[in-house]
Amino acid sequence: MSVLLAARGVRKAFGTTDALRGADLEVRDGEILAVMGPSGSGKSTLLHCLAGIFPPDEGEVWFDGNRVDRLSEAGRTALRRTAFGFVFQFGQLVPELDALDNVALPLLLGGVRRGEAYAQAANWFPRLGLSELEHRRTGELSGGQAQRVALARALAVRPKVIFADEPTGSLDTLTGEQVMDLLVDVAREEGATVIIVTHDARVAAYADREVVVRDGLVSDFRAAAR
Ligand code: ADP
Ligand code: ADP
Repeated sequence: MSVLLAARGVRKAFGTTDALRGADLEVRDGEILAVMGPSGSGKSTLLHCLAGIFPPDEGEVWFDGNRVDRLSEAGRTALRRTAFGFVFQFGQLVPELDALDNVALPLLLGGVRRGEAYAQAANWFPRLGLSELEHRRTGELSGGQAQRVALARALAVRPKVIFADEPTGSLDTLTGEQVMDLLVDVAREEGATVIIVTHDARVAAYADREVVVRDGLVSDFRAAAR
């Protein structure tokens, strides 16, 4: 499989804190990768650099043969909206909107017409075990339901890459497993590449491969069994 995403010699500092000190990572097309490591080691910063949320201070970030670090802010925003989906621990849904509105939102932001956006959004609900919940406000959903809506929202633009930062961090073990099962199954069906930041070995066990971030550097850890 070819390399879809890469960080090469990526450095990023926040004030006097060196969050990344020359991080190297290659992610292959279709791979499910777990990024592990202690708290404060630079995992989220690496994810944010790869996803074009902010540029590195030094080094290169590549996506699909293009330099993400050379894009303007507008270019990075366009890339995120079209090619990437995001799942975070919590807080990414608009609680006052219903579930369907939340899933349609990234499509509407991407310029998809209203009827088409809602039709595409609605398709995800049965697929993610969310039938009948389309018109529930997301603030009224259970944690697992909300995370599955977040997953639908991330998938709505049919992203090449899904970035997940502690996607089960706010869930109990069983609910977390259900969300991970869905994430991995749907990503494989869609051919999406997935990068999961987690400190939970049970979550990392879903990945094809695991890397560890320590003190702002990445090291290969193991090839997962599955
Ligand atoms: P992890 O995700 O592994 O917990 P982070 O990438 O969030 O690590 O953080 C790496 C280091 O950078 C930590 O020391 C953290 O405190 C610091 N850091 C991260 N983001 C910011 C920020 N926006 N402002 C200041 N320091 C930050
Ligand atoms: P609101 O401001 O409450 O979203 P709307 O009239 O835009 O008011 O939407 C009412 C409901 O219909 C919402 O729950 C939304 O999810 C749904 N909805 C809006 N537009 C469409 C559409 N084109 N197709 C299907 N459902 C839609």
